[in-house]
Order: sequence, then C-alpha cells, then structure tokens
Amino acid sequence: MEEIDCVVIGAGVVGLAVARALAMSGREVVVLEAADAIGTGTSSRNSEVIHAGIYYPQGSLKARLCVAGKEALYAYCASHGVPHRRCGKLIVATTPAQVATLESIRAKASANGVDDLRLLDRDGVARLEPEVQAAAALLSPSTGIVDSHALMLALQGDAEAAGAMVAFVTPVLGGRATAEGLELHIGGTEPGTWRARTVINSAGLHAQALAGAIEGLAPAHVPPTFYAKGNYFTLSGRASFSHLIYPVPESAGLGVHLTLDLNGQARFGPDVEWIPHIHYPVDPARGDAFYTAVRKYWPGLRDGALQPDYAGIRPKLGGPDVAASDFVIEGPAMHGVPGLVNLFGIESPGLTASLAIADHVVALCGR
Ligand SMILES: Cc1cc2nc3c(=O)[nH]c(=O)nc-3n(C[C@H](O)[C@H](O)[C@H](O)COP(=O)(O)OP(=O)(O)OC[C@H]3O[C@@H](n4cnc5c(N)ncnc54)[C@H](O)[C@@H]3O)c2cc1C
Repeated sequence: MEEIDCVVIGAGVVGLAVARALAMSGREVVVLEAADAIGTGTSSRNSEVIHAGIYYPQGSLKARLCVAGKEALYAYCASHGVPHRRCGKLIVATTPAQVATLESIRAKASANGVDDLRLLDRDGVARLEPEVQAAAALLSPSTGIVDSHALMLALQGDAEAAGAMVAFVTPVLGGRATAEGLELHIGGTEPGTWRARTVINSAGLHAQALAGAIEGLAPAHVPPTFYAKGNYFTLSGRASFSHLIYPVPESAGLGVHLTLDLNGQARFGPDVEWIPHIHYPVDPARGDAFYTAVRKYWPGLRDGALQPDYAGIRPKLGGPDVAASDFVIEGPAMHGVPGLVNLFGIESPGLTASLAIADHVVALCGR
C-alpha cells in the first residue's frame, strides 16, 4: 500500500490552490485527478470574473472567503504574471422598482466590507457605457476578470515547485477511515490502495458521491447534490463595452450578464437550467430567452448576434425552491473522521475565493 502524507482529490482551481498551500506549508502532497489534465471541470466552465463579494449573506463563508480571496487573487496574479484586469462592473436597474433593490445590494456589500460601490444615475451610466439602457446602476470598481487556466497553471507550478505531484487519470473510487489514516481505493491505469494522513475532497460536482463512498463518514455529513446548469452565448463581432454588465440578480444565479474575456470578446450568461445529470451541450433554443433578457439593458442587440457557446454546472446543495446555500467545508472537528476535509457546494465565487479557501482548509487540517 502506498503511504502519503496528504492527498488532494481533484485538480480544479480549488484543489490546486489547496495543494499549493499544503505543499508550501511543508507537507508532502499528491493531487489525484480523474481526468487527463488540470481544470477540465467547473474551473474551465465559468465566467472568469473576480467577484467583489457583494451579494452574500454577512459572515457567510462565501462573503468572507470572496472578499479575502479577491485581494489575494489580485496580488497573486500581479506577482505571477497571470493575465487579469480590474475592469469594474455595473449592476443595472432597468425599472424604477429595481432602483430600490440597488440600495439593498449596496447595504449588503457594505456589511461584507465592500465599501467602494458607487450609485450612478441614468446619465452616469450613459457616460461609462453609452449603449446600456438603465434607470440607475451600481458601479463595482473592484470587480475584474482573470484567465482561469493561466491561474491554474501558476498554482500547479507553485505546488510542484514546493514538492507536490499531480497524478492524472487517477480517479478515487472510495475509501475507508482507519486508525492509521484514510485508505483510498484508486482506479485508472494503476489501480491500488493508498493510505493518507490528510485527505482533501475537492472533487467539485462529484464531491458528494465520493464522500458517500468513504466508509466511516456519517451520511448526515454528505449533503444532497443538485445541478444548476449555466449556459453561455457568445456575441459575434466586437463588443463596445468596457465594463461587465449585470442585471439585478435572479434567484439561483446572478442573471444573464455580459462578461468580457481578456481579448475583449463578449459573452452572455450563465442562465439557470436545473438538470438531473451532468450534460454540457448548449441547446440553441435557449437563445430566445437570452435576447429578451439582454435587450432589457442593451436594446441594441442585433437579431442573430448570439451564438451558443459553452456551459458550466453549479454544484448546488439545494433545489430550485431553496435559498442559495453557503459553501460547506467540513473538517474532522465537524464530522469526526480524522484527517478528512470535504468541500461541498463550491459554486461561485469559488474561483475568486480559491486562495482564501485554501488557507481555510489548511487551518482545518491542523497537524
Ligand atoms: C456557470 C458558472 C459560472 C461561474 N462563474 C464564476 C465566476 O465568474 N467567478 C467565480 O469566482 N466563480 C465562478 N464560478 C464558480 C467556480 O467556477 C467554481 O467555484 C470553481 O471552479 C470550483 O473549483 P473546484 O476545484 O472545486 O471544482 P472543479 O473545477 O469541478 O474541479 C474538480 C476536479 O475534481 C476531479 N474529480 C472529480 N471526481 C474525482 C474523483 N473521484 N477522483 C479524482 N478526481 C476527481 C474532476 O475531474 C475535476 O477536475 C462559476 C461556476 C459556474 C458553474
């Protein structure tokens, strides 16, 4: 049986950030990844937005780790040459009723320590984004965009420089808690059993299935899984926007928003489609609803300008009628299995928060 100090399961942005932090704290780390490359899951199927930390309930993990993670991420990108831009975003109110909601969003942000939001009137919006139609908007100057793949490569590079190893095509099938540590059953090309003192389950959409296959972990500590797919449509041709444009949020997502990549290409999404199984192709028929949603704030959107693009899936802990839940990150003090940390429901802002999540996980591991 292979013996190892720490195993991190999953080489998405969160697993890689955790592996980096553990390796840099002096631990021996192996990352076990089912796919044949880093970041093939949700980490490469998102909006690549560095969120400010505006919407989350005060004191929640999402609020705290987003705000701390944002600062850490900007500093990390700057020091590691990861392409990013602090482009700012507008949250636009298109009806007088939504203007009141902007005030409550600003109050929520302020409670989270995000004090830089500015309220703009119609003319103020027009000065920044002449094509956007809005009764008013909030400008969030600390929101930005990041090249998520370059970020993951940098995290992997740091982790490996500190001695960590990433093993691909190495799915973890299940495990067992023992007095000597956690035994993990490994599939793939070199199947076998590994024993680790510390195991971090950062398997994203599969984290609950994996946790459910660990003997000794009480089922009460494995929350249910729901999938809320988010589809994106790309704008053909160049966009004339310089900020990200968000409507006032809907229930399960942030509304069909406009994001820009670092080349200035605009895309719209993600919408919310509850699905029973993981399934990524985008149904072109969903485009109709995009035209309607986007034209509320950008009436100039031309017919035929939107092309179906990619989709990502939010790992939700509750269904359509349930309020958004917080990240669930449970260590031994919570579930009673020595050495195990489970990460569940790491939806947005998991990319923004990745470095802060890593610090939080390292603190839960102890020694
Ligand atoms: C539509 C959408 C938009 C988003 N937009 C943003 C945004 O703009 N900003 C932001 O901050 N966040 C955003 N997020 C959230 C962010 O993308 C995620 O929080 C983050 O990518 C989660 O990373 P992860 O490492 O936990 O999961 P993943 O990237 O899914 O990685 C999990 C890894 O585990 C591997 N794995 C699974 N099971 C096993 C197993 N049994 N054995 C070994 N390996 C396994 C998978 O192959 C995968 O590589 C968005 C999410 C979605 C869905």
